[in-house]
Amino acid sequence: MPSLSLTIHRGTHQIGGVAAELCAGQEAAGDERVVIDLGANLPGTDVAISDDELVEHVFDGRPCNAVLFTHLHGDHVGLFHKIPAGTRTFIGPMAKKIKRIVAEYTDRDSLPLIDAMETYRRGQPLLGFQNMRITPFSVDHSAPDAYMLYIEAAGKRVLFTGDFRAHGIANERSQLWRVLEMYIPKGIDLLVTEGTLLSRGNEIRANPVRTERDLGNRAREIFAEHKYNFVLVSSTNLDSVMEFYHAAPKDKLFICDAYQARVMLTAMAASGRNFPLYRAGEKIFLPVRQDKDSNKVEMLRKTGAPLNVEFEELELNGADSVERMREQGFVMLARQNRFKEPNVSEIVMKHFRDKAFITYSMWTGYLRGGICEDPNIVRFMGETPYESLHTSGHAFPEDIARLIEAVDPEIIVPMHTECAEEFSSLELFAPWAGRFRVLQDGEILEV
Ligand SMILES: [Zn+2]
Ligand SMILES: [Zn+2]
Repeated sequence: MPSLSLTIHRGTHQIGGVAAELCAGQEAAGDERVVIDLGANLPGTDVAISDDELVEHVFDGRPCNAVLFTHLHGDHVGLFHKIPAGTRTFIGPMAKKIKRIVAEYTDRDSLPLIDAMETYRRGQPLLGFQNMRITPFSVDHSAPDAYMLYIEAAGKRVLFTGDFRAHGIANERSQLWRVLEMYIPKGIDLLVTEGTLLSRGNEIRANPVRTERDLGNRAREIFAEHKYNFVLVSSTNLDSVMEFYHAAPKDKLFICDAYQARVMLTAMAASGRNFPLYRAGEKIFLPVRQDKDSNKVEMLRKTGAPLNVEFEELELNGADSVERMREQGFVMLARQNRFKEPNVSEIVMKHFRDKAFITYSMWTGYLRGGICEDPNIVRFMGETPYESLHTSGHAFPEDIARLIEAVDPEIIVPMHTECAEEFSSLELFAPWAGRFRVLQDGEILEV
């Protein structure tokens, strides 16, 4: 008898650091096993299973046909260098390019592993599997090029959401709801859904900014009001990065470093045709240090990035550039520094510290007194006034309810959540209260 089982190795009761597996058994052909995500624990989280233990549990000697990464966040892909050699790995094509750029700056040893990753094609089943039909569909998330996976095996149908949301740029045309309607039949056997925001109700209610559009609109007001703007945002949170880019007033300089510009250009090349927000905008100014930097514009050209955006270098050692910034004002995507030597954001900040304003678009836990205070961020921010401006990368509970309604699953397994037990008691989920099945890490569920 063919069979299908789900195991969440880590993530039934925590946000991030997740890994799951689906195993399709076929007596004659033997088992076919895919692992979905292999994430590193988020810093500062109290966890039951260490990263090393997780890798031991997942690769326990049984064959693994592939590791499927839903997206490039470290809490999903962070342990990729621990995968046994020769195992097939998959990720989205743009996610792969961006991961490669990040690795060029931070972890060059991992480049061959990234290069070896195979890539998804939206709506196209993955090739080379005997017992499983696995179809990736792109979803909206705070990382670009994220996927949910639809798996058919042993006569069963499983939807695995990965991290998703319905309020970013990718879902502006209701992509998620259309994909569910067109490709996922109603009445599937199992839904594995993320539930990050169930434990962040206060955070959601306190934040007037819900969508990426809201974020862009507020950014436009802030950038108009202040002359010298620094923005702290994750370099790969591209919906927000692009909102900030287009929200910069035309008469102010838009500044970011060459790394951030490369990430933006890569995303623009992949998405510009479909999403207006990902189209080229005003000129991008690249700060350079004459003592260190080679020609940045030339470097960007060599990466093959589409240069339909104009670039200009700002020579930081010369007084002219600083004078120009002082006169025109600017919006600079800044980066906190983990290294001894000051980075370009810090050099610019030194000139404008007393008149600067910071738009803070990262997790508030990193701030002074936060649960995971980051000394580099705290140092960069100093006493400079700031406003928190961010949207969540995760689905609001009402969107999870809409997803459940759309696919009408027999069993619902929550993961990537601190509130797995609470799903069944929430008013919002009352129509499906009996269908939730809370697993423990490592428990096997026969679908
Ligand atoms: Zn995550
Ligand atoms: Zn994520």
